[in-house]
Amino acid sequence: MKLVNCSICGELFRSRDGEICDNCSTEKEDSPYKKVRDYISSHHRVSLVEVTQATGVDGRIVLKYIRDNKVSLVKGELD
Ligand SMILES: [Zn+2]
Repeated sequence: MKLVNCSICGELFRSRDGEICDNCSTEKEDSPYKKVRDYISSHHRVSLVEVTQATGVDGRIVLKYIRDNKVSLVKGELD
């Protein structure tokens, strides 16, 4: 076990493997990831701002999911 910064939210946590903390784990039922993914999948075209406002998830976290290809917005909507 070692202390690492979560690559999603930046919080320090003890990691066995991986770089995402339990709170941000894509396995967790109420994780930011699930909220973001569910919102994007149930809306046809959404912007980053809409996602952050609707889900309450920090834009930096949403961007991280996008960069990691965990979720995707319509191309060009990031600006
Ligand atoms: Zn985290």
